[in-house]
Amino acid sequence: MTTGYRCSLCNRTYRIEERVFCCGCGGYLEVAGAPLLGKEAFRSRVRGIWRYREAFGLPEDAVPVSMGEGNTPVVERRFDGVSCRLKLDYMQPTGSFKDRGASVLLTLVRHLGITDICEDSSGNAGAAVSAYAAAAGVRCTVFVPAYTPTGKITQMRMYGAAVVKVPGKRQDANDAALQHAQNLFYTSHLWHPYFVMGLKSAAYELWEECGESVETLFVPVGSGGFLEGLFSGFDSLFRAGYAAKLPKLIGVQASACTPIHTAFTTHLDGYADVSVGTTVAEGIAVQRPPRAAAVLGAIRASGGYTIAVEDGEILDAARTLSESGIYVEPTSASVIAAWRKADKNDKEGAVLVLTGSGLKATDRYSGYFS
Ligand SMILES: [Zn+2]
Repeated sequence: MTTGYRCSLCNRTYRIEERVFCCGCGGYLEVAGAPLLGKEAFRSRVRGIWRYREAFGLPEDAVPVSMGEGNTPVVERRFDGVSCRLKLDYMQPTGSFKDRGASVLLTLVRHLGITDICEDSSGNAGAAVSAYAAAAGVRCTVFVPAYTPTGKITQMRMYGAAVVKVPGKRQDANDAALQHAQNLFYTSHLWHPYFVMGLKSAAYELWEECGESVETLFVPVGSGGFLEGLFSGFDSLFRAGYAAKLPKLIGVQASACTPIHTAFTTHLDGYADVSVGTTVAEGIAVQRPPRAAAVLGAIRASGGYTIAVEDGEILDAARTLSESGIYVEPTSASVIAAWRKADKNDKEGAVLVLTGSGLKATDRYSGYFS
């Protein structure tokens, strides 16, 4: 298998040894030639995301940087008289779904012999990349918005990462990381296609556990990488002849930051240029998501749509979830808030992906609920 990248805009190809995170033309990259999953994957005795490694398109001799990520549970709950299923994807080594992407991306980084990386994050991706960099023996610098909760910054520093606080909005941290990308390998979860490859694994898990019964899937959307990864996974199951149809993907954004929601509702192919406010759901406040075209394409191809939710609705949803024993951060609770507002036919039995542990947001919640 030849491994490399293809530009989504101009079709230029790159070898993985070229250490690029985007095309010279500015387009985002896709992994070229990742095979469809064979039946052997579903018979494997390996647990977690590495069960599906052939679908990641990594070099065959790359040794996984793994800490037991993936294989997260699905539980049923009933809210407002309607049943739904919750995929508890925050039950991972660093407390968020981002470990799926970080495990695959750092496997590539170590395989290429890279010793210094940088990333920008509002929290969870920074923690995941810091932890997997530590496990891989790679030095890591993370640029975070200055408003990032202290607990998340401490978690990154505990993993040994250098954390640089950038004043301003989430986008300013992104710009700061891009400036440093000339010296350090920029392992951006916003840009890098191997991060998305790792996120695909959640679709395979849902398929193995729930099969065709996954008809509607609610996913929080910041950069949209998780939604893109879930689509990519289900689409490959469809193309390989396992799944008869794709689940409807419903992307959830906070009303204070809606570049994807606005683009979807006004029929744009890339992100909408929106003004951005602050939100309790800082994990989905990405003003200019670089892979927006792929995210919008995935929502449309699945027959899905987008929903925006207010902070008050998110906090209510967090409380409702907690009262059923499930403690997640506001970004994750947004999917419950959106599910409550969704079309009636899309609610019963829907799967809602919960992405980040509430333990990362206890300080924030104490300001609202104590
Ligand atoms: Zn290009």
